[in-house]
Amino acid sequence: MSATIVWLRQDLRLRDNPALSAARQRGGPVLPVYIWDEAGEGAWRPGAATRWWLHHSLQRLDVSLRAVGSRLVLAAGPADEILSTLLKKTGATAVYWNRRYEPAAIDRDIALQAMLTAAGVEVKIFNASLLFEPTAVRNKSGRPFQVFTPFWRHCQTLAVDAPVGWPAGKLPGPARWPESVELADLNLLPRLNWTDGLAATWQPGEAAALLRLKQFTRHTLDRYADERNRPDIAGTSALSPHLHFGEISPRQIWAAVRELSRAGGVFPASRGGQVFLTEVGWREFAYHLLYHFPRTPDRPLRAEFSAFPWRKSAAQLRKWQQGLTGYPIVDAGMRQLWRTGWMHNRVRMIVASFLVKHLRISWREGAAWFWDTLVDADLASNTLGWQWTAGCGADAAPYFRIFNPVLQGEKFDATGAYVRRWVPELGRLSAEYIHKPWAAPATVLAAAGVTLGREYPQPMVVHGEARVAALTAWQEMRAGRP
Ligand SMILES: Cc1cc2nc3c(=O)[nH]c(=O)nc-3n(C[C@H](O)[C@H](O)[C@H](O)COP(=O)(O)OP(=O)(O)OC[C@H]3O[C@@H](n4cnc5c(N)ncnc54)[C@H](O)[C@@H]3O)c2cc1C
Repeated sequence: MSATIVWLRQDLRLRDNPALSAARQRGGPVLPVYIWDEAGEGAWRPGAATRWWLHHSLQRLDVSLRAVGSRLVLAAGPADEILSTLLKKTGATAVYWNRRYEPAAIDRDIALQAMLTAAGVEVKIFNASLLFEPTAVRNKSGRPFQVFTPFWRHCQTLAVDAPVGWPAGKLPGPARWPESVELADLNLLPRLNWTDGLAATWQPGEAAALLRLKQFTRHTLDRYADERNRPDIAGTSALSPHLHFGEISPRQIWAAVRELSRAGGVFPASRGGQVFLTEVGWREFAYHLLYHFPRTPDRPLRAEFSAFPWRKSAAQLRKWQQGLTGYPIVDAGMRQLWRTGWMHNRVRMIVASFLVKHLRISWREGAAWFWDTLVDADLASNTLGWQWTAGCGADAAPYFRIFNPVLQGEKFDATGAYVRRWVPELGRLSAEYIHKPWAAPATVLAAAGVTLGREYPQPMVVHGEARVAALTAWQEMRAGRP
């Protein structure tokens, strides 16, 4: 049997990898290939934090492949040219890959499939990253869902495939491996080293993803329903970057939660399990929306928001990005993001709301910053998260519902531990004032070593005034006179 090329993209794992398993079953040598095709990503080229992750994930994948007698072939350039060259050089007659759902990736895949099939190459495409294909989920009128609850209710009537097993033994390779680019030559790592915080927080790769899932289901899942909104503790799975890069699949997560229910026969066995799978369901919903509404990364799903009178202020945007807004919970989140490439979901909602409502800066500016700084930056989930917060997406929080960052902080970070961790200049303020230092008496501030405007900024806007201005802008948009 001639060789099969497996084109790996956002499926950087061996287990539950249908393309890799099918290539193995086909017989003959298997060539796992990763192509760094930046232009093929269209307008949404990987940001700095995801490039860092990708570098390390590719390194780990190569190690895993070498352990089974194979290796990862790396190449850089347009995918069509690289694949054509590889087919010629290796005599391979088949190319298998797992599906992606970003609009640019879909366009590229369609063109590639046509080109390869016309050349007599066997092409097979699989689902490796979703529980349910977006085309398989439709409402009663045959249309895509735009509201989460009925979407998820419908999904739960559908069967979830079991993960594809990974048999022991070697993965057969070719007698002569084609040339591979050096990982370092892909230039994924930044020239200036600002990634120490990422390295201290994360371990990319399939093994780390599986370990994280195991530890999470063992130690945290039961408390997830109650603690998932608390940014001061590790109450969530932190699987999002692993899921984005396909180091683990949602099918594996589903199966792990199901396994826990085996003894009791009830699935999911706990409220924690149920709420956790519902969050995985939000990821499915994000992909469903991106697939059916492919313009949403750049345009609001609700067209009336195209006329929203967004403000432009490079100086205010910068303060938000740097975590210098004067609202401690917002600043803590933005600094956690900068340092670790990740931010707790509750805090993502708070900082995003602050940008689009208190500052009235477009959600697109926020989405672009997240895109560059998140290790889990994901076109589907990022678009959903920003449009949801801005009120312009499917099943979104209404724009007029404006988070009060002080109350959010007091509710979800009651002791102030999260703020103290990321905004150390407020470290000695008591819980009473940690979320509103401007309200503290001068003696309290002095005892905590804080002078507002010096160690820590004054709030850049007054909540009440910003709220009124946001509501006025929203009403102007609705009245059609921005
Ligand atoms: C403004 C904004 C931007 C966001 N951008 C991204 C992004 O670029 N990439 C990303 O993966 N998530 C994004 N999210 C969703 C969510 O914040 C993260 O998925 C979550 O914080 C990841 O942490 P976790 O893995 O511990 O989640 P857990 O609570 O452990 O949830 C398990 C998994 O479910 C999925 N999930 C959970 N919540 C959501 C959600 N609201 N929407 C979609 N999927 C979800 C994730 O894949 C997550 O890993 C964004 C949310 C907001 C409000």
